[in-house]
Amino acid sequence: MPELFIGGEWTTAVDGQVREIRCPADGTLVAVVDEAGPKDAAAAAAAARDAFDSGPWPHTPAAERGRLLLRVADLLERDKDALARAESLDTGKRLVESEYDMDDIAACFRYFGHLTAAGGTDRIVDTGNPRTDSRVVHEPVGVCVLITPWNYPLLQTAWKVAPALGAGNTFVLKPSELTPHTAVMLMRLLTEAGLPAGVANLVLGAGPAVGGPLTEDPRVDLVSFTGGLVTGRRIMAAAAPTVKKVALELGGKNPNVVFADADFEAAVDHALMAVFLHSGQVCSAGARLLVQHSLHDRFVDELIRRARAIRVGGPFDPEARTGPLISAAHRDKVAAYVAAGLAEGAVLRCGGTPPADPSLADGYYYLPTVLDECTPGMSVVRDESFGPVLTVERFRDEEEAVAVANDTMYGLAGAVWSQDVGRAQRVASRLRAGTVWINDFHPYVPQAEWGGMKQSGFGRELGPAGLAEYQETKHIWRNLDPRPQRWFE
Ligand code: NAD
Repeated sequence: MPELFIGGEWTTAVDGQVREIRCPADGTLVAVVDEAGPKDAAAAAAAARDAFDSGPWPHTPAAERGRLLLRVADLLERDKDALARAESLDTGKRLVESEYDMDDIAACFRYFGHLTAAGGTDRIVDTGNPRTDSRVVHEPVGVCVLITPWNYPLLQTAWKVAPALGAGNTFVLKPSELTPHTAVMLMRLLTEAGLPAGVANLVLGAGPAVGGPLTEDPRVDLVSFTGGLVTGRRIMAAAAPTVKKVALELGGKNPNVVFADADFEAAVDHALMAVFLHSGQVCSAGARLLVQHSLHDRFVDELIRRARAIRVGGPFDPEARTGPLISAAHRDKVAAYVAAGLAEGAVLRCGGTPPADPSLADGYYYLPTVLDECTPGMSVVRDESFGPVLTVERFRDEEEAVAVANDTMYGLAGAVWSQDVGRAQRVASRLRAGTVWINDFHPYVPQAEWGGMKQSGFGRELGPAGLAEYQETKHIWRNLDPRPQRWFE
């Protein structure tokens, strides 16, 4: 069955190209899928433009659009098992993690369904003139291009698709070329839920060949991108000539700041989860551990004892606690960062190699790795390796903790651990990041905004601001008693 979805029709690529999708856990062939090129991208942009300019969706009452999102949430729950399995085969992530993701995805559609249906964002403006009627209304932006990464394929897609549809837009989705399957399944569910033809369009394919032309296309009004910093810069530049609205959700190098008075057991446990969840392939991973000097030795010793015990394995291995990296090339990149860190003076405390287990030799595994005695200038500390690599730095006091934590070009997330409520709150408010956890790491809810500061990007997903990204604000002024002004008499 063809996998491109354009104008309500399933189709193959114009040039007949296909791509092999392989499971990162063992390299087995998952499927061969259609690979779009610039012509397919153009056809999808045209279909989305036509559906926006001439179709019913932008003018469908918000309550009805909200109801459709709620139906999609029901369908996602119905198909949860198949979706989770497909996601695990594409990404190699543990099935249980994919299942959690599917719950979050349904919750995201449910949240935006209710938010859309509730309406209430338009307002009447008091102009001070009784002969006028002035209203500020919110309208869809138009044709949205949604470009997503491979680490949380359907979750990142849901954060864009649900509010884009809620606001009344049409869209072209371009998922990562490495992990296309759940996007294909989502298109089927949107159709089943009753979305009109042409509102949702899907093109699978490489970033430069498909995402690039879409970003430049003058028929497109907005590009929402989640992915790496370098790609984000390219997208912003490519969108500039046509002055598109752009939202960028980029990488992070997130500090996890542990004070000596932290709850020891909880802080160690969360520090492991913060960085090794999904083998570190998480934008908000707590990859930089900052520990107060007096706690350092005890904390790091315990962390290493536990990190060594983390079992890596494939998505369907019930004993595994984390999975493979997405590709051989990505594993090479992670290994190169570790080598650079060691050359710059970091001390390897555990990991630093693929696992020795021969049964994992065909997958792209890398052991949970801890580099101690790191300093802010090291590339392994500064850059996002996006792998299971924790760097450990020390600090003496609150002032130094804040300075070191903020000494990064990124600003996506961070955490502070302390039982001193005042200090935890002070540090949280001084961290330059879009999300800060106190005595916790990683939780998020669809009601609260998500996004970055500094070079982690701009724009927000989730929460009311996540819907507003996909809306234009318009002021409509009505003169109730028009008379000549005689300005030029
Ligand atoms: P990537 O930048 O390589 O690719 C992301 C998407 O962009 C893919 O669909 C890719 O095909 C496309 N793309 C590549 N070049 C393009 C171009 N020139 N024009 C248009 N599209 C192009 O990122 P990735 O490796 O897939 O994902 C990992 C990155 O995503 C990490 O940096 C991670 O931190 C980030 N991420 C951020 C968040 C967040 O919420 N801020 C969430 C998840 C992942």
